[in-house]
Amino acid sequence: MTKNIAILGSTGSIGKNALRVIQALGQDYRVTAISANSNVDLLADQTKNFQPELICLANPENYNSLKEKLADFKGKILTGPKSLIDIATLDKVDIVITAVVGAAGLPAVLEAAKKGKTLAIANKEPFVIAGEMLTKTAKQNNAAILPVDSEHSAIFQCLQAGNINEVNKIILTASGGPFRKFSPDQIENVTLKQALEHPTWNMGPKITIDSATMMNKALEIIEAVWLFGTQPEKISVLIHPESIVHSMVEFIDGSVVAQMGTPDMTLPIQYALTYPKRAKGITNRLKLDELGTLNFEKPNLETFRAIKLGFQVAKKGGSLPVVFNAANEQAVEQFLAGRIGFASIIRIIEHCLEKHNSVSCVSLEQLFDIDTWARAQVLDFVSQKT
Ligand code: MG
Repeated sequence: MTKNIAILGSTGSIGKNALRVIQALGQDYRVTAISANSNVDLLADQTKNFQPELICLANPENYNSLKEKLADFKGKILTGPKSLIDIATLDKVDIVITAVVGAAGLPAVLEAAKKGKTLAIANKEPFVIAGEMLTKTAKQNNAAILPVDSEHSAIFQCLQAGNINEVNKIILTASGGPFRKFSPDQIENVTLKQALEHPTWNMGPKITIDSATMMNKALEIIEAVWLFGTQPEKISVLIHPESIVHSMVEFIDGSVVAQMGTPDMTLPIQYALTYPKRAKGITNRLKLDELGTLNFEKPNLETFRAIKLGFQVAKKGGSLPVVFNAANEQAVEQFLAGRIGFASIIRIIEHCLEKHNSVSCVSLEQLFDIDTWARAQVLDFVSQKT
């Protein structure tokens, strides 16, 4: 039976890889709906190549130019941020791949969960800011949630070897990014150019900076807590610079199961689409004889305070993860714009967490209010320091 797929964020790094995977999987998988934020040219090209039934441009600015480019298109073209929900809840759609940067995709993910769609979630934000709401809604509506984040896909694959109740420890691996060997002092003088050069993974700018600060791993701790229904105490972070072991699970009997592969997002994307089956993949084969050695080490928690913060925020919960994520998004934006130094990203996040009085979030409106508050705090902090 054909699986109909919607992609939220088709012009980003994950979206483009998802389209390559779907093309290679052949006729059993069909691109039914796609959305982009503002990349009109690529969205138009993708629409011509894949002939979806529904497309959406979230940012309305270039809507007319998109319509001109697609004058012959027979499907529907929507615009505005709310149209993401139309894409995610389209009756025909079986699987929704969400790869929207930041918190913007959350309402659409929740609506898709209410419709019982299978959710292949590539970005961490839905889990980080609304983990409880999302997992509850999915459970109530029999919506399966499948990880696309490479580490979580690895853990999910390892968990095929045992039950979650038989897990002693989840070992999240991290490349350590370009500053793995840096001291806390050295990290103060990092430039934007250095921070954008990731040693093993080729990703978008936001997530590349998150890897350099290791905020990426901190957010992944929270993601794992919700995705696998486990406690932060059962998670540990291990530096593995080659990015070949994508994560591991240690079971109560002492057996450690690892998932390995070349660093290539097409693999976790494909597993989420074909699960519980596997299909021939387009990724380069792993050649361990050529690699020879794999290295593992403890993370330096003085240089990478983000990891400590990640565990603290995961344990305390409430609305802290919302602040943690929003402050980071805004601080990274400020860093990318050249307004703050690299080390200020974490300092600003710490400042926002300290100032916030955590509440237990109940509604989406409340979540977005707290998100807005945290972003404003970051801008205040930046304007006072410059
Ligand atoms: Mg990851």
